[in-house]
Amino acid sequence: MPTLVMKFGGTSVANLERIANVAEKISREVERGYNVIVIVSAMSGKTNELIGWVNDTSDIYDAREYDAVVASGENVTAGLMALRLQEMGVSARSWQGWQVPINTTSAHSAARFVSIPRDNIEAKFAEGFRVAVVAGFQGVSPEGRITTLGRGGSDTTAVAFAAAFEAERCDIYTDVDGVYTTDPRITAKARKLDKISYEEMLELASLGAKVLQTRSVELAMRYGVRLRVLSSFDETDETSGTMVCDEEEIMESKVVSGIAFSRDEAKVTLVTVEDRPGIAAAIFGPLADAGVNVDMIVQNISEKDYDEVHPGAVTDMTFSCPIDQINRARKAMENAKANGSINYENLIVDADVSKVSVVGIGMRSHTGVAAKMFRALAAEGVNIKVISTSEIKISVLIDRKYIELAVQTLHDEFDLGAPADDV
Ligand code: ASP
Ligand code: MG
Repeated sequence: MPTLVMKFGGTSVANLERIANVAEKISREVERGYNVIVIVSAMSGKTNELIGWVNDTSDIYDAREYDAVVASGENVTAGLMALRLQEMGVSARSWQGWQVPINTTSAHSAARFVSIPRDNIEAKFAEGFRVAVVAGFQGVSPEGRITTLGRGGSDTTAVAFAAAFEAERCDIYTDVDGVYTTDPRITAKARKLDKISYEEMLELASLGAKVLQTRSVELAMRYGVRLRVLSSFDETDETSGTMVCDEEEIMESKVVSGIAFSRDEAKVTLVTVEDRPGIAAAIFGPLADAGVNVDMIVQNISEKDYDEVHPGAVTDMTFSCPIDQINRARKAMENAKANGSINYENLIVDADVSKVSVVGIGMRSHTGVAAKMFRALAAEGVNIKVISTSEIKISVLIDRKYIELAVQTLHDEFDLGAPADDV
């Protein structure tokens, strides 16, 4: 029998009624002839509540106990879902991570998969069970302790199971009906995409379109898992949602597929650092050690001398990072200055910036996308502070107050509201 993986996020299993509703969807796939592996999240809000309980109980941060507590939300949903399915006459049982076992590294709260042996679940399918309800987001370490994968990790569990069991498809049920050209809350012209390539989805996911955990898309791309995003709140069929797939499968002709943005960014400029070999390493090493996720980097060579002791060129170094890491970034730079590994005249923080990006595999073969983007923003009086590009993406940092305007402008400029012609 072919295998299907179905994943349900927190809002899709938020209460007993929602659980009963998605159990119907699972039962329909069983009737279609699939053995189904269901991956569940904790009921919405549960994981936050559990994290709160851990923090309120103790200042001692023991990541192993954090994981033991926080993983439990998924266990509850898995058991309830199995019960509900049994109630409907579908042979189902729940699986916690260690029972499968889902073997992971020991990196608590950020564990990675090591292996997912098929034997135990397959033995149950062979006995006539039709559904394995697996608790997402968790695994077991080589030491036999419970691990978790990081927030949003159930998506990654689902893709890993689809890869391990060579599933026909991995359906990710959520509270939106697919992947949009941009956030529909920003512009009513946002349009659902029928298909999007792994590469584009990876950019959109990491740029803050919160539909899928980035790692799940990486994993899907690596193993060629056909991934579909769809809503558990709608009636759905084979054509629902957005398919994340290989770019060969996509016939749409648009150069740009989507506009992504991330609101809460910050920008740091180190004014007049020495321009010498090793300076970038001396800056970004301590930032990495402090756990700062540096995103964009700009270095400006200045012709003027630093001072009499340091003749030669100086440079300004600018980088961006998520706003909640800004204090760590500042501390790391101040410490590096204090211990003499770098020197700068001034450290300027701009905490009121956002990033907006245009994404599309079509950019590989089309020129002029950047110019078009910059012209459109200029026409609206939006100043660009930092620019970065990749093969299929152009990102700019702008003042946060312009973010909605910028997204709407670019969405119009690249004509994303209109359906693409097939080529
Ligand atoms: N329940 C976990 C979280 O809220 C994992 C997930 O739902 O993907 O992050
Ligand atoms: Mg999620």
